[in-house]
Amino acid sequence: MATPATNYVDGEWTGAATGETFEVRNPAHTDEVVAEYAKSGVADTETAIEAAAAAAGGWAATPGPERGAILTRTAQRLEARKEELTELLTREEGKTLSESGGEVQRAIDIFYYYGQKARDHGGEVKAPSGTNRQVSTRKEPLGVAGLITPWNYPIAIPAWKLAPALATGNTVVLKPATLAPSVGKAIVEALDDAGIPDGVVNLVAGPGSEVGSTISGHDDVDAVSFTGSSAVGHHVYDDATDGGKRVQTEMGGKNPAVVTSNADVDEAVDIVAAGAFGVTGQACTATSRAIVHDEVYDEFVDELVAHAEAIEIGPGLEDPDMGPQASADELEGTLDYVDIAVDEGATLATGGERVDVDGADGYFVSPAVFSDVDPSMRIAQEEVFGPAVAVIRVENFAEAVEVANGVDYGLSASIVTDDLSEANRFVDEVEAGVVKVNEKTTGVELHVPFGGVKNSSSNTYREQGDAGLEFFTQTKTVYTNY
Ligand code: NAP
Ligand code: MG
Repeated sequence: MATPATNYVDGEWTGAATGETFEVRNPAHTDEVVAEYAKSGVADTETAIEAAAAAAGGWAATPGPERGAILTRTAQRLEARKEELTELLTREEGKTLSESGGEVQRAIDIFYYYGQKARDHGGEVKAPSGTNRQVSTRKEPLGVAGLITPWNYPIAIPAWKLAPALATGNTVVLKPATLAPSVGKAIVEALDDAGIPDGVVNLVAGPGSEVGSTISGHDDVDAVSFTGSSAVGHHVYDDATDGGKRVQTEMGGKNPAVVTSNADVDEAVDIVAAGAFGVTGQACTATSRAIVHDEVYDEFVDELVAHAEAIEIGPGLEDPDMGPQASADELEGTLDYVDIAVDEGATLATGGERVDVDGADGYFVSPAVFSDVDPSMRIAQEEVFGPAVAVIRVENFAEAVEVANGVDYGLSASIVTDDLSEANRFVDEVEAGVVKVNEKTTGVELHVPFGGVKNSSSNTYREQGDAGLEFFTQTKTVYTNY
């Protein structure tokens, strides 16, 4: 059976050898099929990897400015489609139009940024320890990069892997998330329009267990960049490192926001609510624990509950405060954690219930606030990946830091305080790859490193900024005697 030509392999849009397809549905209107895709398997993935391997030499030899010009044209093509892609992202993943618009713009900005970086990228010349000699370094691509991405930032994350991989001269195979592949595919369409040579970028959609694991285990793949859950990430890491590949895995979080006795409570509530309930809580950097000083605890909980209850929930296309969760499984995961938390003795102060929205039948849930949470409870230890925040009471700053660090994860962390000393001590002591003072745990800039520690990351290389270029390059040291 012919499958839709949704894969991009060796410069051609093509179907899958499996003859199978899969549907992508709107999480706000579950009977709406947004797109139908070829469901690729192992053989389709191998064909794409072969194409990328064949194109590697030519692309590596292409001058940086020429590679950069293609990335810049890609940014322009995405920019021309911004409104359409914003709507498509919302229809597929569920986030609000405002959130999608910001994410599409991020992808555009990333392509402009690395378009310039491609020109700039190079090595250094050092003083030689002899006359008539030269010693210098070059930055060379690794070869074929396999990129495996999650559904929650379906255009920004493919962009922040594709652009630096291509800027530095690698060829790529992108495996987008099954729940939301279309905006990642739109980047590949833009690269195609922008004149990327055949085989340099390849897209294969299909189940992670087949497409993703073929990428992480294939001999012709030189580097694997993965973002997703910790469970899958550890498997990808083992598989890729067994094969001697360079690998980075960016995974889950259990991100704390500490609210000290010196915090402005109104400001703290705004910061925590934005971090916890923005993008329906489905961010790796989402605030999922508020660690609050006893003196302000009751006031904080009351205000956070009021804030949560005022959040308007609806289909992302209507641009409410909060859209649905991305799938039935994600919704169920959140509702399961509500039961688990209550069973363990936490108080469900508000929310955590499936919500009926007029004219929609999606995976809507009301934002949940748990109080009386003990740091050892599962709701305080495990990633929920929905709009839920556990509020933990602490007696002093030292206990706040201990609780903040008392989890397996270490992605993002924030402190809300007017005390400069507390703010700086928190930056010193917290175990996290990203630390924020008086800012929400979510939201990052594209030109500085991003990544986590502990179970949040392989902690091999950071992504974004110059760190993104580092991951995709190796250094050659050249000695010349003239
Ligand atoms: P996921 O279930 O781990 O999936 C991530 C990607 O891996 C998807 O493309 C998935 O394919 C693929 N995959 C699944 N099984 C695989 C296997 N055996 N081998 C290779 N690849 C496989 O994560 P998700 O549900 O899409 O995303 C949510 C998670 O991502 C959360 O844990 C969140 O914290 C994390 N995240 C982390 C960051 C960060 O930078 N630290 C950023 C965003 C999200 P399918 O789609 O086909 O299953
Ligand atoms: Mg998942």
